[in-house]
Amino acid sequence: MYYSFSWLKSLSRIAAFYLVVVIFGLAFDALAIALAVGSSWLLGYHSWHLYRFNRWIWHSKKITPPSASGFWEHIYEGVYYIQRRNRRKRKELTYIIKRYREGSEAIPDATVVLDSNACIQWCNRLARIELGLRWPQDSGRRIDNLIRHPKFVEYFYNNNYDIPVEVPSPSNIEKILEYRIMPYGDQHLLLIARDVTRLMQLEQMRKDFVANVSHELRTPLTVLNGYLETLPNAENVPPAFLKKAFTEMRSQSERMQNLVEELLLLSRIEASSEKVFAKVVNVPLMMSAIQLEANSLNKDKQHELLFDVDQHLSVYGIETELRSAFSNLIFNAIHYTPMPGKIRVTWQLIDDKAHFSVQDNGEGIAEQHLNRLTERFYRVDKARSRKTGGSGLGLSIVKHVLTHHNSALDVKSEVGKGSVFSFEFSSEVTVSLKQPNVKRYS
Ligand code: ADP
Repeated sequence: MYYSFSWLKSLSRIAAFYLVVVIFGLAFDALAIALAVGSSWLLGYHSWHLYRFNRWIWHSKKITPPSASGFWEHIYEGVYYIQRRNRRKRKELTYIIKRYREGSEAIPDATVVLDSNACIQWCNRLARIELGLRWPQDSGRRIDNLIRHPKFVEYFYNNNYDIPVEVPSPSNIEKILEYRIMPYGDQHLLLIARDVTRLMQLEQMRKDFVANVSHELRTPLTVLNGYLETLPNAENVPPAFLKKAFTEMRSQSERMQNLVEELLLLSRIEASSEKVFAKVVNVPLMMSAIQLEANSLNKDKQHELLFDVDQHLSVYGIETELRSAFSNLIFNAIHYTPMPGKIRVTWQLIDDKAHFSVQDNGEGIAEQHLNRLTERFYRVDKARSRKTGGSGLGLSIVKHVLTHHNSALDVKSEVGKGSVFSFEFSSEVTVSLKQPNVKRYS
């Protein structure tokens, strides 16, 4: 228990002690001896307590102080009280540091705390993974000795941290990290590195997209403008030239219209909030309409066109989107197969799943292109694709439609032998009238 120190009480105790010693000394007529013995006892008493105190403070594992009374009890209690207060503060601080570190670990970015000499004081787990830092080995090491990319070093010494810098990750060259430094407190720095690879890719895709659209629209517009400029000035335009001009202008404006329609379709699919699996699409009916269009497209090419369609097989989905996906693959096969080719379209139930495939015996596609086919405006042979009227958006639309319908495009192709473009719908969305036990989406 804590009670306050009183000089008066301590002095009156000493006075009482010496009073007893003086009475004893006078009683035995040996005042000097009594005073010497009393003082020695007092000295011994305090020396013994000093010894106990020293032993408790430095050597004892006990938290509670040794028992004592009077002046020494007061000292013991005081020290005990200070110790308890420090211990509580230490606990609180440890708890705060633990919470702070847990919080920093939860930050989805690599975080490093640097002192005024740019030496690492602490880093989170992501900093160890993304920046390749080792903990605790790198504690106290300068950050610019560990992240040595010139762009980072320049940013670090620039002392103007307003605009973050993008630098490849030291642990993975494929990753781009955005470094941001924030000064705080006593010249300390907080370094945050965020993975912006995806953002950079999106930014690049956006730039490519704008460049591609502009390029695709500029070509037909240049042709149209060319004719429009020459026509009014030519007084006696030969009919043959007029005919050629109108045919070319019509074909270029059709191309532009196709491009714009396909772009609109793509953005409609991306922004669509329509329920995908609310209605059953009558695929056999849709297929017969596509077959008619394919036959008319095939008039010049004279390929052998085979449709093997299960007349009882349908799926839940969005008709306009599915029609676009199915027809894009079929029309591509007609366009890109040199005549006279053989094209086989199948729509069949395989393992309770609706399966669609288009097989052709055309020139095939080299392996390095396969992964990129569904990118917007990607063409294997640009010149040939343009001649067929292709915009380079067809397979991108197919990919988006299929993703929207929880499916994916599979492309198998061999140069010189042909290609197979296929996809399937899960049994949940497949509707087969022949096999009513096929699960239905509800
Ligand atoms: P496009 O509108 O130019 O046809 P797509 O996105 O539909 O664009 O196709 C991308 C590219 O894939 C085409 O330019 C073509 O080179 C190639 N391709 C698509 N289908 C076939 C196929 N059946 N056989 C060979 N190449 C194909």
